[in-house]
Amino acid sequence: MIVGYGGAGAVAAITVAEAGGRAILLEKAPEAGGSSAVCSGGMRCPTDARQTAQYIKNLGLGTVDAETSRVFAETWVEIKPWFVKRGARFGESKREPGPYGNMGVPDEFPVMTLESGEGYVRGCGRDLFAFLDGIVKKLGVEIMLRTPAKRLVQDPVTKEILGVIAESHGTSLAVRAKKAVVMTCGGFEANPDMLATYINPAPARMYTSGTPYNTGDGIKMVMAAGADLWHMDTIEWGTQGFKPDGMAAAYWLQPKGQGWIDVNRYGRRFRDESTSPRHAKSHLEIFDFPAAPDASRDAEWPNSPWYMVFDEKVRQAGPIILTERFQGAPPFITYNSAREVYAWSRDNSAEIQKGWIKEAGSLAELAAKMGIAPAGLEKTVGDYNRYCSSGSDPEYRRKPGTLAPVDAPPYYGVECVVSIVNTQGGPKRNARSQVVSALDGSPIPRLYAGGEFGSIWGFLYPGASNLAECIVSGIICGRNAMAEKNRE
Ligand SMILES: Cc1cc2nc3c(=O)[nH]c(=O)nc-3n(C[C@H](O)[C@H](O)[C@H](O)COP(=O)(O)OP(=O)(O)OC[C@H]3O[C@@H](n4cnc5c(N)ncnc54)[C@H](O)[C@@H]3O)c2cc1C
Repeated sequence: MIVGYGGAGAVAAITVAEAGGRAILLEKAPEAGGSSAVCSGGMRCPTDARQTAQYIKNLGLGTVDAETSRVFAETWVEIKPWFVKRGARFGESKREPGPYGNMGVPDEFPVMTLESGEGYVRGCGRDLFAFLDGIVKKLGVEIMLRTPAKRLVQDPVTKEILGVIAESHGTSLAVRAKKAVVMTCGGFEANPDMLATYINPAPARMYTSGTPYNTGDGIKMVMAAGADLWHMDTIEWGTQGFKPDGMAAAYWLQPKGQGWIDVNRYGRRFRDESTSPRHAKSHLEIFDFPAAPDASRDAEWPNSPWYMVFDEKVRQAGPIILTERFQGAPPFITYNSAREVYAWSRDNSAEIQKGWIKEAGSLAELAAKMGIAPAGLEKTVGDYNRYCSSGSDPEYRRKPGTLAPVDAPPYYGVECVVSIVNTQGGPKRNARSQVVSALDGSPIPRLYAGGEFGSIWGFLYPGASNLAECIVSGIICGRNAMAEKNRE
């Protein structure tokens, strides 16, 4: 039995069903796919298992043992052939360096994007999940949507996992596992209390940009069964985001024009806006640590919240949110866009009317509307516009090609949030993807975990590797669950 039907759940189900087993997928949401179906689709597919094992160990900073790294790496190099064997074609590979240098091994892991449909479409998560879903359905796997797992059933003596209590249409349901329970129920990126407990983001307002159904339920379930946890403090930060009231997930902000800056409540810039703060924990800049001990500033957090300020040129250039991954590619990234939660207007006018974007005839008026210090904003925009004229930003070294002035009224502003791609924490796994006990590290019998639910990625994340992990750990979980003897 598999809990959670995203990428990892799909691959675990395929592995079981192709080996002749019976897989049941319990899914909490009314839709399948989780964050896997709304992600960007970048998937590192390394080819050298030995180097990859070392890379995993290095990035884990000692938290992932050699055997787990080795098995993961050896399965990782299988994933491209795994897809090809099942009819996928791959687009061109990019050799992208990871964000943490090579740490002793080459960091040129090709990023594969799946082709789908007619002709060549650089795939995003939606295409990738549709491909997996097609195989799952062809194999006749039973899928139960709107069926959240609530707790594990465990033998009090042997600690063996016997099955799951789930809920379906308001009714409690006991589902017995003949071989094992495989938990692939995502992270806790949509659970504010767990974020506060484990990530402790201090002043940052953080919201998922993936499925709002990943609320860490499974983590509590495995804790109750005695599981150890790992990587709970590791989060994959997204770009700067915008979360409308009443929506569960955040958009990624990506204005089409360049005449915009980020400012804090004093109207001061605090970052190089031409860099994306993803992957490499560079959101730390919002904490604005004082250079020297300064008790008065310590508690102030002047950059939280922060604001994107832009002008009429940018408003007219197109939606200020991410609408296409790259030119011509479908906009199916982030939950709100992929699930078409709301149709953002082409010129941002509907969002101005809703009050999501504030509008004003002057910078001072905009500042007053947004709670920014007016004089600070005017000075900052004046300085920034001069940098645009000279072609060089001496303060934050924003890339010269992106230096476009904020000089065409009316002016606009949105309050920004940190968007979360995913959390990495959850139950600690061994090389067989078994969940291990907090007491002695032994495997909890018949309990497996895959995907971002207790990810192998610890403090450092190499980029484009959570999706790959869905495939790798889905295969490992499926194989080992199938190897379990049937329960009497
Ligand atoms: C916008 C965005 C872009 C991204 N881009 C990339 C990228 O390019 N490359 C990359 O490697 N990673 C990327 N990621 C991260 C990656 O998509 C995820 O980490 C990965 O897909 C998680 O897969 P999963 O199968 O573990 O979880 P999910 O796909 O999220 O599936 C978990 C499922 O479990 C269900 N569930 C939760 N609780 C329960 C319960 N109690 N009972 C039953 N079901 C439950 C959820 O509803 C969900 O459907 C991106 C993420 C986002 C949001």
